[in-house]
Amino acid sequence: MEVKATLYNKFSDYLKNKYGTKVYKLPVNLPVSCPNRDGCLSDKGCIFCGEEGAGFESLPNYVPVSEQLLRNAAYIGRNYSAHKFIAYFQNYSNTYLPFEDFKRYVTNACMENVVAIYISTRPDCINDRYLEFLNETSKTMQKDIVIELGIQTVNYKTLKMLNRGHTLAEFIDAMLRIKRFGIGSCAHCIVDLPMDTMDDVVETSKVLSALGVDQVKCHSLYILKDTVLGEMYLRGEIKPVEFEEYIERVISFLEYLDPSIVIQRLAGRAPEERSLFCNWGMSWWKVLDMIEEKMKAEGRYQGRKFGYLNGETCIK
Ligand code: SF4
Repeated sequence: MEVKATLYNKFSDYLKNKYGTKVYKLPVNLPVSCPNRDGCLSDKGCIFCGEEGAGFESLPNYVPVSEQLLRNAAYIGRNYSAHKFIAYFQNYSNTYLPFEDFKRYVTNACMENVVAIYISTRPDCINDRYLEFLNETSKTMQKDIVIELGIQTVNYKTLKMLNRGHTLAEFIDAMLRIKRFGIGSCAHCIVDLPMDTMDDVVETSKVLSALGVDQVKCHSLYILKDTVLGEMYLRGEIKPVEFEEYIERVISFLEYLDPSIVIQRLAGRAPEERSLFCNWGMSWWKVLDMIEEKMKAEGRYQGRKFGYLNGETCIK
């Protein structure tokens, strides 16, 4: 059986090729919230969202952006001999800010040794005004800019169950706009949502490919304490999918994905002391090893089943 040298398009390889060296993401924590938590859309948040959003490894948000970057760069640089960095606005919805504040934070992040700025946000928190500014900044400051959007799944019924507060349409609109302004894009997905099936996972992969998303980050579902999902889990109302099913979903997702899409991550990481369930009790790198082992053993790789766009299925 043929074993492909490249199982999937790894983020670390992409960064090394693009910037000529290892590049590390430095978390930046802004004083920002989310319209799905502050009452604008809802005060409950997505059912899996913890108190600190996604940024449990960040410095406090009152520390100035430049200082956060310098302190994190010093720490990472010391431990990993890193010299180039990505400023990662990670927590909550980082474009859900007054325009002038947003501009200031982004401009402050354009420091020496920062090669790119990655901004995590919601599909309904981005518009042409912000994108135009980012396009200009990217050109004048010579920094790559990537917007990371949570979508989790393209199943709009699941999005409702997750209390995302947006549907698939807003995600498609945001992705098309981001592309129009020449900004990079990344989509966050959870492939093992218990309310989704394999069909949903495959369709998510196909839609992301059709939209020309540049990067993907796959999380396994982790269940945090003091969340709606956590309460459902404790009451026995939801059951995480089995580990074997999770691995099969990840690999199938990759097989249908455009091989040029860069994979930022394939497994979730959660703060252990605040988790009720994460990675079936294994470390994330063990999970990753097992995914890669199965792919090698079965001759499967990213893009193996790609080839369904632009009429390729029917027109030979
Ligand atoms: S969009 Fe993000 S920050 Fe907002 S509630 Fe959902 S997971 Fe939390």
